[in-house]
Amino acid sequence: MSVIERNKRVIVIGAGLGGMSAAIMLARSGFEVTILEKNTQVGGKLNQLQTEGFSFDLGPSIFTLPEIFRPIFEGDGKRLEDYITLQRVDPQWRNFFEDGVVVNLWEDRKKMRTELEAFGPHAFDEYKNFLTYSLRQYNILERGYLRHGLDTLLQFFRFYGWKEARDLDYLRSMSDSIYKRVSNRYLRDIFEYFIKYVGSSALDSPAFMNLMPTIQMEFGLWYVAGGLYQLGHAFRRRLEETGVALCLECEVLRIDYSGSTATGVHVCDSKGNLHTLPADYVVSNMEVVPAMQRLIHSPASTMKKLRRFEPSCSGIILHLGLDRVYPQLAHHNFFYSTNLHEHFRRVFRDKMLPDDPTIYVVAPTRTDPSQAPPGCDNIKILPHIPSISDRNPYTREDYVTFKELCLDKLERMGLTDLRKHIIVEDFWTPFDIEARYASNQGSIYGVVCDRRRNFAFKAPKRSPGFSNLFFVGGSVNPGAGMPMVTLSGQHVARMILEQTSKGKS
Ligand SMILES: Cc1cc2nc3c(=O)[nH]c(=O)nc-3n(C[C@H](O)[C@H](O)[C@H](O)COP(=O)(O)OP(=O)(O)OC[C@H]3O[C@@H](n4cnc5c(N)ncnc54)[C@H](O)[C@@H]3O)c2cc1C
Repeated sequence: MSVIERNKRVIVIGAGLGGMSAAIMLARSGFEVTILEKNTQVGGKLNQLQTEGFSFDLGPSIFTLPEIFRPIFEGDGKRLEDYITLQRVDPQWRNFFEDGVVVNLWEDRKKMRTELEAFGPHAFDEYKNFLTYSLRQYNILERGYLRHGLDTLLQFFRFYGWKEARDLDYLRSMSDSIYKRVSNRYLRDIFEYFIKYVGSSALDSPAFMNLMPTIQMEFGLWYVAGGLYQLGHAFRRRLEETGVALCLECEVLRIDYSGSTATGVHVCDSKGNLHTLPADYVVSNMEVVPAMQRLIHSPASTMKKLRRFEPSCSGIILHLGLDRVYPQLAHHNFFYSTNLHEHFRRVFRDKMLPDDPTIYVVAPTRTDPSQAPPGCDNIKILPHIPSISDRNPYTREDYVTFKELCLDKLERMGLTDLRKHIIVEDFWTPFDIEARYASNQGSIYGVVCDRRRNFAFKAPKRSPGFSNLFFVGGSVNPGAGMPMVTLSGQHVARMILEQTSKGKS
């Protein structure tokens, strides 16, 4: 990026990874950047809780695609490794099924071959061939959609042309393409559940979302030493080093505008004082739908157009400190529904709490014993459930009942007497997620991927209504997950720089 003179003011609303990524890249290019965050710390959903000797990562637990983070940390002779230490995790996932079968996913191909031997001679070949197909999908999407930050179908077909777009597996659903290529029922469930990375359904996402196993199985899965929140600290250091003004406990209540130009924001500080801050550019890390609704008060016609950007799933998130260790758990574990398609249908189509959820369980002490006192364990339990919806308005009590159903399932599937060993508990419902991060209806991963609703496109990064208002984070392209939201921030910084340069010439 070239450097411009320090005369353009940028206000960034929210210090999630998307917002901080845009802020750092813009400050490095010479913009005067202020970031306003309503919470007491940076990171947004990348969050932590330290209590009674336990250190809980409240949000992300899986780090992938480190290359995407490098531009944030490189420059001035520095490298990503000067800020965080990455530890490879292998087995990457341990998968538990109700019939007692357990399948590890290993990055190491030889170990994977051995793992699948029990399922006969074809299982490993199907696995390998599936990854070859997944890599093809990744390569196509990386070259354009990810690298250039394509935002609309029109840009997409302009970039790829019809010929190349044809190689992209978009007519089928993710699930159909898996079932076509893989016959082993356990591998089918495992590949389908990669859609968890974006909080969507394998039945409704386009097949090119099968790029996700490549990101993990081919490029690696990491833990950040000391806990994922070390990445939050690293971003904060980078904000300071690049001269971004960070204001915590400052909630933006309104975006001011004149015609089609955003002119600044109204912000309420920690003492309840109101301020008006002028801006040449406004970048919102608040999701598109709540921002257009609450900060701009957009008319009903605009909000109607945004309906296709339906929220991803939400979740209940349970962090437990245990007075014992369950040695059967790996770092990342999945306890599958007997019928995964039924789970997807209930959560994403019927918007109902699942009777038999698929549950993600993280046990970070397998890689980092510092996350719990000696002899104790630290586990996160995360089943995906519908975002808050008028169709089935659940109460906090309903979520507590659902939590008990999840604990029943885990106890049944081998975590015997789990309840008896809980010494610390921290419990989040979709209401808490919505309130803490101002996410759309308690969504965890921004916008859902759905081939009929939005063809897996999220909202565009530049507001269609305001020439200098941009969005970053999980509700815009390329979507959710730490690498993707960080990439969205880099793309927006580039778009603003290009817009400024054009304005000058
Ligand atoms: C439980 C859980 C598990 C996850 N697991 C993984 C994982 O393993 N790997 C992975 O890569 N991703 C994971 N994710 C997803 C990942 O955390 C998110 O995609 C990503 O961190 C979202 O970043 P964002 O830039 O969209 O902003 P957010 O994190 O949503 O942050 C937005 C920020 O804006 C602030 N804000 C909003 N409105 C205002 C306002 N009006 N004024 C001031 N501030 C405002 C909010 O307080 C917040 O700090 C997980 C998320 C959760 C919750």
